[in-house]
Formats: sequence, C-alpha cells, structure tokens
Amino acid sequence: MNIIFIGAHPDDLEILCGGTVAACVAQGHTVWMATATNGNVGSPTLSKAAIGTIRRTEAEAAAKCLGAAGLIWMDENDEFLFDDERTRLKFVDAVRQAHADVIVAHNPNDYHPDHVASSKLASDARILSAVRLIETTHTHLPKSPELYYMDSIAGLRFEPQYFVDITPYFALKQQAAQCHASQNAWLKSIFNTELTDHIKVHSAFRGLQSGVQYAEAYVQPSYWPKTGAGLPFLRR
Ligand SMILES: [Zn+2]
Repeated sequence: MNIIFIGAHPDDLEILCGGTVAACVAQGHTVWMATATNGNVGSPTLSKAAIGTIRRTEAEAAAKCLGAAGLIWMDENDEFLFDDERTRLKFVDAVRQAHADVIVAHNPNDYHPDHVASSKLASDARILSAVRLIETTHTHLPKSPELYYMDSIAGLRFEPQYFVDITPYFALKQQAAQCHASQNAWLKSIFNTELTDHIKVHSAFRGLQSGVQYAEAYVQPSYWPKTGAGLPFLRR
C-alpha cells in the first residue's frame, strides 16, 4: 500500500505521525512524507533563505530516519498557505506522485492557519487526484485514496477515533524529531519547551487512552466513495 502523510510545516509529521510512519514502513508499506511550507520564518536570527534551506535539509534527514520513500517539498511560504488553484494543483500532484492509496492530513479543526489550510487542500486533493482532465506533472490515479486526519499539536480540539500503537517505534520517532535541530532550539527559546518532553507526554497520553505505552491518534472523516484501503494498525 502507498501512504502519503501531508504536513503543513517541517516537523509536524515527525511530532504527530512519526511512529505511524515507522510502523507502516516496517510492515512493508511505501510511505511518502510531504511538507507544504518551507519553514522560512522559523528563525530568530537567520534570513528566510538560510533557514528555509536548513529546514529542508533537516526534513530530508528526518524522512530518511523514518524510512520514508521520499520527501515531497511543496515549498510554500511558512504562515502563508492558502487554498488557491496553484496550491491545490501542488497537493494533487503530491498525492499522484505518491500513487497514494491513503492520505493522512491535518485535522481541519486545528488551531494553526497553515494546518487548517493544509487539511483542506489535502482533503480536496483526494477526489481531484483521480480526475484525468485535471492535469499536473504526474498522471491521475485510478481511484481516489482513503483519507484520515492526524492528531493536532498537544491534542487540542481532537477526539480520537483510532489509535496506532507506536511503542516499538517511539525511540525512532524521537530520533526523527531531533533531526529538526533548528526548530528544537528555537521552540525552546520562545516557548521554554523541550520537544522530546512534549512528544513523550503527548504519545503517552494517547497510549493511556488506548491501552498501550505510546500511541498516535487519528480520525476518518465522512466522504464518498470508499475504496476499503485502511491505515494499518488502527485500534479503536
Ligand atoms: Zn505546524
């Protein structure tokens, strides 16, 4: 099965889905990680171009760490992700490049505007990716993929429907998150939070809810048509 995880910023996927990515890879699935924005405002000192380059390098290292087939870098400006035709086509092409059976997108009720925009764009790409006359670099898919929404940062405004037991992959998830060294340092300076602690608390809380040590949480929204393909390892 081919699965594409689409995050708004470099580091979102590692924080929210890193264990699931590793679990899917371990089970032989082909996993693509896609990042909508380039993180080019995530520095207190560097220029946009400099931090954007660093963040792409960090994201590529994290994707490699988790065993992803590739990182799709959509290169939109950080904090300015909008649902327009040009961006929509980028999302459609990303889903096609991954030849996705399953899309994992941000929760539409997320608190961050880029996450909300990314959720909408990724969700809408589900149907459009199979429409032949919507032309992008990669050819249209034979059928629309299935769609899941990932948890939100700190679990805000999110009521899980499914859990993935990530206990065997928790160390790898932390290792992937640590690839984002520039953000870890910056977040610590402005929010006084250590990313490893943040991830541990969140993953342990979802684990507590689902009866395992560490978990990640998902929901599947209502839509039509369904193909029957499912995100592996889902526990209710
Ligand atoms: Zn984000």
